[in-house]
Amino acid sequence: MATSEKIVKEGIVIRLSQTKEADAMVNALGPDGLFSFYARGIGKLTSKNRASVQALSHASFALSVSSSGSATLTESKPIESFLPKEQKLEQFAILSFLEEISAKIIQPGEGGELYPWLHDCLKAIKEGFDPLTIGLIYFAHLMVDFGIGLDVDECVVCHKKTAINALSYEEGGFLCNDHCHGESAVMASPRKLKILRYLFRVPLTSLTRIAFERGETIPLYAELGLYLHQLTGTNLKSLSVIEKLS
Ligand SMILES: [Zn+2]
Repeated sequence: MATSEKIVKEGIVIRLSQTKEADAMVNALGPDGLFSFYARGIGKLTSKNRASVQALSHASFALSVSSSGSATLTESKPIESFLPKEQKLEQFAILSFLEEISAKIIQPGEGGELYPWLHDCLKAIKEGFDPLTIGLIYFAHLMVDFGIGLDVDECVVCHKKTAINALSYEEGGFLCNDHCHGESAVMASPRKLKILRYLFRVPLTSLTRIAFERGETIPLYAELGLYLHQLTGTNLKSLSVIEKLS
């Protein structure tokens, strides 16, 4: 007889893919990284797991894991929903973005270090802090976690920390006035460099300290999105919605 193991995991649902009828494959990010499980009958209105198994819901999941390693949901307990009461277009756009980028970039078993960022970013958006700034901070930390964060501390060529006046996504970071003449270099205002540095360097505890202007944040989604696309081939549908917010 096949044996199965019972485990309980906590996490935030980042992808729900309907398989057949009312069943779904669920991906969630938790403190130990990305995990997935099969949820039977979740699409039925009568399902007792409906409240927990929704996009961006934070819940605890009791799973039955088969000897082959596949997990099936047996029970769940909702902890928190991150859907704001009044959803404005801006919040909706950033929530879809957080969901999409997490689902497309984080690999099974990975992303545990990003979990507190996802959790606190969702909480901050729910509490009404500027979603556009919060979304970019998450974007930056996801890139760092994936190993493609920008070097925003120095010139990537000579490691000088002064006279920084440009950046290159191809070189992976800031450039000084001696090394800003390459083809991929883009001159950047001190303000833009400062914002980028903040996005990559802000500690989790200061997440809500600053809100940038829309005119500053929206173009950065497109820029970072293009960079991500060039390195990973990932296309983010939610970026086109963010672009329209300007
Ligand atoms: Zn340099």
